[in-house]
Amino acid sequence: MSLHIYNTLSRTKEKFEPLHAPHVGMYVCGPTVYSDVHLGNCRTFISFDIIYRYLKFSGYKVRYVRNITDAGHLEGDRDEGEDKFAKKARLEQVEPMEIVQRYTTSFHEVMRLFNCENPSIEPTATGHILEQIEMTQTIINKGFAYEVDGTIYFDVEKYNQQKPYGILTNRKLEDLLEGTRELGGQDEKHGRLDFALWIKAKPEHLMQWQSPWGMGFPGWHIECSAMSKKYLGSQFDIHGGGMDLAATHHTNEIAQNEACYNTSPAKVWMHTNMLTVNGTRMSKSLGNGFLPHELFTGNHPLLEKAYSPMTVRFFMLQTHYRSTLDFSNEALQAAEKGFQRLMNAMEIIKNYELGIKNSSKSELDFEIEKLCDDCYELMNDDFNTAMVLANLFELASKIFAIKNNQLDVSQISSTIFAKMKTTFVDFIETIFGLQNENSNSSNDKLDEVLQLLINLRKEAKAKKDFATSDLIRNQLAEKGIQLKDEKDGTISWNVI
Ligand code: AMP
Ligand code: ZN
Repeated sequence: MSLHIYNTLSRTKEKFEPLHAPHVGMYVCGPTVYSDVHLGNCRTFISFDIIYRYLKFSGYKVRYVRNITDAGHLEGDRDEGEDKFAKKARLEQVEPMEIVQRYTTSFHEVMRLFNCENPSIEPTATGHILEQIEMTQTIINKGFAYEVDGTIYFDVEKYNQQKPYGILTNRKLEDLLEGTRELGGQDEKHGRLDFALWIKAKPEHLMQWQSPWGMGFPGWHIECSAMSKKYLGSQFDIHGGGMDLAATHHTNEIAQNEACYNTSPAKVWMHTNMLTVNGTRMSKSLGNGFLPHELFTGNHPLLEKAYSPMTVRFFMLQTHYRSTLDFSNEALQAAEKGFQRLMNAMEIIKNYELGIKNSSKSELDFEIEKLCDDCYELMNDDFNTAMVLANLFELASKIFAIKNNQLDVSQISSTIFAKMKTTFVDFIETIFGLQNENSNSSNDKLDEVLQLLINLRKEAKAKKDFATSDLIRNQLAEKGIQLKDEKDGTISWNVI
């Protein structure tokens, strides 16, 4: 089966056919860096990291653009409230760019801990002011935007006369209008759904730029249109982000691009569902966000213990990206066990050599082969990581059974064994980006310490001090470490 992706725009799973195969252009709305990213944001970025990894694994050459919003995002999604960066900078009495730098650095650190690959390009809104001004000017020239005293608004009703504004969420303009408040006397925009492309800055506004309409700063939505066009062209393959962005931010992006270039930016719109806490969306503004470091240290009143980055990554993979995922201690504890089981199986299969070279195919071979093939089929079915994990667990059971001699390895042919090994390792490491957290260096240290104890025991034995030699062996056994006399006279250890 070839790759099929659910497209928010068509509301169906579509066969993925890139515009310029093998090249794929993918744009994902990145973080607004006025505060730390919370775990909800991380869910979206981890989901797209896996999508990026799988597209590359499938042979595509992906240009993955994920922006940094470092200007122009007001508190309300519809141009109300204060500038988020300016507010924070004023509170802390620092430069707005210090806020941007601090949270960009911390975002990168979080992405590194979660083992997310870097995007190909990470453009910032402040680095693309000229492109945003240019695009705004073109939209004015095409008659879809108007100026009111230095602020430029997109004319939604006029646009909707030519193209359906609510196309992404399948809503008619009348329905959308119902959800907005009536314009009051102080409102300068002409229509209730009109949104700002460029906002006039008051003299005290901290970040402002010169434009044909005076000093100001860009609206939030125009940045993604301008930057995706610059790096991926006016039409590209995939545009992604969290589901909360579809109704406003992405709807406005489509309108801007259609108005400017007469084409919708992306062929496929992908939206990740929300991470929730007790059923409520985790969000910065609601203040119910768990921060990654609170999770890694366990330092949060609602957390029973600390959870490692890989446990959290695994926890997220257990649910399909289009389903909501509720955050709880129980679910994380189960994920911790599941992740460890998978990693144990991977260590075993990585180091296991099949003694006998079989070539004939048994029933067990067919069973293993199907489990492997299904992993790719499931991933090709709109990136069903949850079901792939279920298959990997079945493979893990086989791996444990092989290790414990409960499965007759003579029933497994060499090619199928090799296939099981590659599928297992490729999915866990390359596609899912899961890493063993017991780093090699700590394993090496453990080995050194155990060799020391083994030598002490040897010396004790040589001096006929059997009490000490037995004590070492028994106490290690109590800790789950078994010493084994090898045929060549050396002593090895393993964890039981
Ligand atoms: P923001 O920094 O708020 O602009 O959000 C960055 C990204 O995280 C966007 O793609 C959002 O759609 C996404 N996002 C925000 N909250 C959540 C959540 N609770 N669960 C999943 N994704 C989210
Ligand atoms: Zn965006």
